[in-house]
Amino acid sequence: MHHKKPPFIAGNWKMHMTIPEARALISAVVKASPGLSEAEIVLVPPFTALAEASRLLLDTPVQLGAQNLFYEDKGAFTGEVAGPMLADAGCRYVVIGHSERRQYFGETDALVNKKVFAAFRAGLKPIVCVGETLEEREAGRTISRIESQLRNGLAGITADRFAEVVLAYEPIWAIGTGKTAAASQAEEVHARIREKLAENYGKEAASYAIILYGGSVKPANSYALFREKNIDGFLVGGASLEAESFIQITKEAIKAYKEEQ
Ligand code: PEP
Repeated sequence: MHHKKPPFIAGNWKMHMTIPEARALISAVVKASPGLSEAEIVLVPPFTALAEASRLLLDTPVQLGAQNLFYEDKGAFTGEVAGPMLADAGCRYVVIGHSERRQYFGETDALVNKKVFAAFRAGLKPIVCVGETLEEREAGRTISRIESQLRNGLAGITADRFAEVVLAYEPIWAIGTGKTAAASQAEEVHARIREKLAENYGKEAASYAIILYGGSVKPANSYALFREKNIDGFLVGGASLEAESFIQITKEAIKAYKEEQ
């Protein structure tokens, strides 16, 4: 049986936030965190703010993640950041295969797969993003696209290892567009993802898997989305840049979670 898990809410700041701005946002989230204790909160600042974020998050329940990593652990790769560096900077999570990386930086499922293994080597938990384009959705290829992203992106990962993976379903047409997938639309895909995970890793691993939804999550849709059986939390972009909306999204998810208990 699949039981509702506590909400997992990650804030992807993308290419925003100077160090002073990061400080203010982090302080506000940390200040609110005692009232959000049912949720697992992960902040995902740009690389430049990680060390400061880590310092501010020390001894708080709020976790730190990075937005990307390179698949080698060190070496002559100018401009890249390695998994051990992220772990050293205080990260526990790393986002891999965000649709913006796939779209603008040519990241493929094969690259995603290498990065997932690099994250494991560094002791980081990968947040692996999958999702279809509008064109794929309209052509009825949503599920096949996501299945191939999962198959290739997670190739070679054993059920044991899979327990460390967080998945994020992010329909590309819903990211940064203000167009959220309807809760039932998102749930349909989440349920299929969980079925697929059960085939690949067994029912138990699939039931424990955290599957986030991402794409224009806001305070106004958080509750309805989190009420859905297979939605375990959110990867929030735009609305994570302001403490108030990020905290409110978390509160709405907690409210939905408590009603399920
Ligand atoms: C994201 O960055 O993963 C995202 C879902 O962005 P937004 O919430 O702005 O659509």
